[in-house]
Amino acid sequence: MPESNNSKKGKKSNGMRLVLLGPPGAGKGTQAEVLSAEYEIPHISTGDILREAVREETEIGKEVNSFMERGELVPDNIVTEIVVNRVAKPDASRGFILDGYPRNKGQAESLDKALEGKKIRIDRVLYFKTSQSVIIKRLSGRRVCPKCNSIYHLKNNPPKKDEICDRCASKLLQRKDDKEDTVKKRLAVYKEAEEGLLGYYKTKNILKEVSGDLSAEKLFRSLKASFKKEGP
Ligand SMILES: [Zn+2]
Repeated sequence: MPESNNSKKGKKSNGMRLVLLGPPGAGKGTQAEVLSAEYEIPHISTGDILREAVREETEIGKEVNSFMERGELVPDNIVTEIVVNRVAKPDASRGFILDGYPRNKGQAESLDKALEGKKIRIDRVLYFKTSQSVIIKRLSGRRVCPKCNSIYHLKNNPPKKDEICDRCASKLLQRKDDKEDTVKKRLAVYKEAEEGLLGYYKTKNILKEVSGDLSAEKLFRSLKASFKKEGP
């Protein structure tokens, strides 16, 4: 990404208000975790905060629950409200890492509008550009234990005994979402929305492309180095 006309602004702001974008299997969740620990800013995953709202039985949580119970998608305005309330909490005042939202241009616009109302601005959008073959390898090798929810990877993190959970000896399963055909379908759906989303953040001059093809460790190192040099 060219940084030239944005570099001054980036240096002045110490903000670490980040949005992570990229296809499933790009490694966003892993980077969100390690960046959150390194910079002591919360990792806000939309899936998690929606479940939290439901658990806490807040007014909005009850609404979320009614959609989930019917198996319907939670409408954008509700998700946006929950996200904005979360990033406005004191522990996110120095920054946050938003992961899993927005998923399309319309959501990005409504998120910005709502953030403006709270005088919060996203500093940087990290786009995890990742090749399809890497994603398929990552996701299709994943196995989960149906009993204790341990997660393995046939190549990167295999169980000691073939397809058997180390912890509880249950037979490991492959999630339907992780099967190659389903992964390809998920990627196609993602790709459709991606273009508008990336275009939107590009015009705002806050998009930075990083390589989701790198191993988690290498990508983390390169992100840290670039933040040090030019801010997030
Ligand atoms: Zn297990």
